[in-house]
Amino acid sequence: MNGDSSASRSRAAANASRVFSLEFFPPRTPEGIEKLRATRRQLAQLEPAFCSVTFGAGGSTREGTLSTVLEFRGDGLEAAPHLSCIGGSCASIAEVLTKYKSHGIHHVVALRGDLPSGTVDTGDFRYASELVAFIRKETGDHFHIDVAAYPEYHPQARSAQDDLDAFKRKIDAGADSAITQYFYNADAYWHFVDECQAAGMDVPIVPGIMPITNYEQVNRFTRMCGATVPMRLALELEKVKDNPGAITQLGVAHATVQCMELLDRGVPGIHFYTLNRSTATRMIVSALRARKS
Ligand SMILES: Cc1cc2nc3c(=O)[nH]c(=O)nc-3n(C[C@H](O)[C@H](O)[C@H](O)COP(=O)(O)OP(=O)(O)OC[C@H]3O[C@@H](n4cnc5c(N)ncnc54)[C@H](O)[C@@H]3O)c2cc1C
Repeated sequence: MNGDSSASRSRAAANASRVFSLEFFPPRTPEGIEKLRATRRQLAQLEPAFCSVTFGAGGSTREGTLSTVLEFRGDGLEAAPHLSCIGGSCASIAEVLTKYKSHGIHHVVALRGDLPSGTVDTGDFRYASELVAFIRKETGDHFHIDVAAYPEYHPQARSAQDDLDAFKRKIDAGADSAITQYFYNADAYWHFVDECQAAGMDVPIVPGIMPITNYEQVNRFTRMCGATVPMRLALELEKVKDNPGAITQLGVAHATVQCMELLDRGVPGIHFYTLNRSTATRMIVSALRARKS
């Protein structure tokens, strides 16, 4: 991927600038439902390739995931539910798959998930690779299966090599493509893609982008999921940490440049973590499209 000619890169970039997807979470309150509807209406204008909806580990938002997906589809948007397996039984996961199939859903994002703290029953599945194998066994090629990838490695992995091996097991089990954990350091993404290619994996690995819009939130999230904030960006954020408008401006500017560079180097798409908000994603996608026209 690093050695593309400039012509094929710009073709890929022109294509990828249209092939972007958006991630949402199922709202838990009537206000959240209304807010997500407004967000959806605004982001629908950008014609995303698909929208994905997260799934609480242990099935905590199972119904919310499906109903949110169905609302999106009702508006003519492609929508893919996530499915996390930790805490689930083979029977409960099979039931969810049957339900997804009965609604004509053909795309899932398959994950292990994290158990809520204090919960010890991991259920029938230990890792996402087992879920991918189970989905293939139960439903054949019905679903396009996306899995998670971690350019800066999953925080529970014993080593980078172990995590790469774990990722390969998901691909070998039948995953079609991957979406990465968000990152702010593009070198980590390209290094990961190179490592995957060297290990014989040729599935599309779509970078996940989460524009920074909140100083405390980015610090909390990155601690939890292992993504790092490069020193220069961290210092710039520190300087404006008490000015929410300036944080958003900085976060959007950084994410826009990040996307431009990723697209120029030929990524297969971009997945935005929207946190159920529209402004930052709209600003970034508009800037990317303005550059192409
Ligand atoms: C794009 C994306 C979407 C997400 N959506 C959701 C969601 O909707 N709901 C949710 O609850 N969470 C979601 N998450 C978070 C995810 O569930 C957590 O990061 C979770 O900790 C790992 O899930 P996984 O599917 O990557 O697990 P896995 O691929 O199973 O990996 C988990 C850990 O186990 C290790 N491992 C894997 N296989 C083995 C093995 N055979 N032996 C030893 N170690 C192994 C890996 O190296 C890693 O450290 C999402 C993450 C991403 C990147």
